[in-house]
Formats: sequence, structure tokens, C-alpha cells
Amino acid sequence: MIQVFQVDPVEELLPYTNEILKVGSTGGNLVIGDCSTEADVLAQAGDSEILLVSWKPIVTPHVMDSLPRLRLIVRWGVGYDQIDVPAATQRGIAVANAPTYGVEEVAEHTIALLFTCARRIAWFHERMRKGEYPSFKLNRIQRIAGQSLGVIGLGRIGSAVAKRARGVGLKILVYDPNLDDSQIRAQGYEVCTFDQVLAESDFLTVHVPLNASTAHLLDFTAISKMKKGAILLNTSRGPIIDETALAAALESGHLDAAGIDVYEREPLSAISPLRDLEHIVLTPHMASYSEQSWQGLRDEVCNTVSEWIRHSWASTVVNLEVRDQLRPRGGN
Ligand code: NAD
Repeated sequence: MIQVFQVDPVEELLPYTNEILKVGSTGGNLVIGDCSTEADVLAQAGDSEILLVSWKPIVTPHVMDSLPRLRLIVRWGVGYDQIDVPAATQRGIAVANAPTYGVEEVAEHTIALLFTCARRIAWFHERMRKGEYPSFKLNRIQRIAGQSLGVIGLGRIGSAVAKRARGVGLKILVYDPNLDDSQIRAQGYEVCTFDQVLAESDFLTVHVPLNASTAHLLDFTAISKMKKGAILLNTSRGPIIDETALAAALESGHLDAAGIDVYEREPLSAISPLRDLEHIVLTPHMASYSEQSWQGLRDEVCNTVSEWIRHSWASTVVNLEVRDQLRPRGGN
């Protein structure tokens, strides 16, 4: 039996009955751990070949070195910034994610945040709940159709957002240095440099992975280059935007509004200054969730595990270069 270990279980999936049955039917033994630290993983993961990781960044290079049978780390979700992928690759360990999880949902959520910000839905709603019947003249409301949406990162989610945005009459501007310009133009979108997408977008949305080159991609300097009165949306990862710079730009009125699902530190502190800003719409890192996407995630992770058990490989592996130097099964 191949040992599979869930490092940091989430309450919503406990007791993982479906996963235990599905993994069991393909020759794996899924053990549900309860780890908060590196030391917990070392104490509990034993002879595991596969580690499943939800949120905690505790499968460190030291853990990788200390578990000689470890060959695959699977992240429950799209982003895998809590795993040191170069360190895993160097050690012959594959890293996989659940790439299709919540693509439609994050796109729907991003568009919902855009509408909520531009139409001031939350602002009016809060006042209606307090018994007021406020005049529309009390706030700035922008038409969405005919304006431009800048998309930073035209991957799976960025593309799904752009497709929807075009449907509501937005012109799409794209900054994604990893794509050929012709690929972007073929979809009817305009290719931009980073500075152009900042300066020309009425609304700007970010859909890049978090890594060393994207952390604080939108810092004070970048935000100051954005069009005055623009709306900024973030459903990717919190640290991609410098929250202090975002708050300052909203306070000064340089930015009109922001729709934010992800934070530099999660959960967002109860005393975060973001909570006091008037034109910000906040959601608790739930853009990818729906009943449908959750079921899809459970299936996708189990499929990765069963594919790996059968073939010592999975189509969801993100560090493809590890294939020729994988650790042998059973350890050295
Ligand atoms: P993807 O890998 O399909 O696309 C990412 C795109 O970003 C790629 O096209 C890549 O070329 C581009 N990119 C990388 N670095 C860039 C840079 N510096 N500037 C501009 N473009 C850059 O990923 P995806 O499935 O679209 O997901 C994007 C991110 O969304 C994930 O990494 C994850 O962190 C986040 N996410 C958040 C939620 C949520 O619940 N809020 C859910 C799923 C995913």
C-alpha cells in the first residue's frame, strides 16, 4: 500500500471519508494528520510517499530531506505558493495542484466584485440595512460598458474573467509577459506593457501566481501609475498587492474602489485598516468556492493520487522538469 498523508486537514472535509475510500480503492492508504508545524509533519508522516497540503507552509526543505520516501506533494487548490517548488525539484520530488478548481467561480466572483464596486451595491446596501433610503447622488457610480478592464495574467482564471468581461461590453487590455502577443491579439484583446496596463485601465484585475517576482507587484509605485479613479480587484493572492499602498490610494481618492478576496495575512485581522475604508468590498478568500467546485476539487485531488499510484506520475504535476530525476519508490 502506498502511504498518503493529509498534513493539515480542513474542517469542511473532515473526516475525509470519500477520499479515504477513493484512495483506498486505488492501492493507497490515506491517513489524516493534524499538523501545525514542521515537527508535527516529521512526527506523523512516517513512510508517506504522498503528502496532501491544504494551507500551512510546513512541508519545508527540511521535511523533504527527512522523509526519504516522499515523492509527491499535492496542494488542495490552484495556488501552491506554500510549497518550495525549487527545493522539491532539487530533491526529486514532484509537486501537483488542482488546476481546474474554481476557475469559473473565481471569474464569476471577480466580475461580481467589479459590479459591486462600480455600482456601489455594498455601500447602498449597508445604508438600507440601517433604515436609510440614500440618494444615488451621494456616491459616484460608473457605467461599466465601454470602459477598459486590464487583466494582469491571462492564464486559466484571467481568460475566464476576460471572456465574461467582454460579454458586458468591456474592452480588454492584457499584460502577461509569458504569452505571445499574437496569442493575446487572436482572442481580440489588446497587448500592453506593465506600465500601459496600469495607466490605461479603468478597472484592473490580477490573476498571477504568487512567487518572488509577483510579491508586491502592485506596490506604491505601480499603484501610483494607475489611472486616477480606477477600480482594483484582487482574487489571486494577497501579497501581490501592498495593502498599505492600496489603503493610501483609496484614502487619497487616487483609486475609486477596490474589490478584494485575498489578504497579505489570512485571516484578515479584525483591526485591519482595510475594514475601515469606505469604498472597498471585502470577501473572505472564498472566490473559488461553490458546491460544484468543491466536489470537483475533491475528485481532482483523488484522481491525482490514483494516477500517481498507478503511473508514478500525474498530469497535474507543475514541476515537469522533475520527471527524469524522480526519487525512486520506497526511498534510497
Ligand atoms: P495560471 O497558471 O493558469 O495563470 C497564471 C498566468 O499568470 C499565466 O498566464 C502566467 O503567464 C501569468 N503570469 C505569471 N507571472 C506574471 C507576471 N509577473 N505578470 C503578468 N502575468 C504573469 O493560473 P490560474 O489558474 O489562472 O490562477 C491564478 C492564481 O489565482 C493562482 O496562482 C492562485 O494563486 C489564484 N487563485 C485564487 C483563488 C481564490 O479563491 N481567490 C482560487 C484559485 C486560484
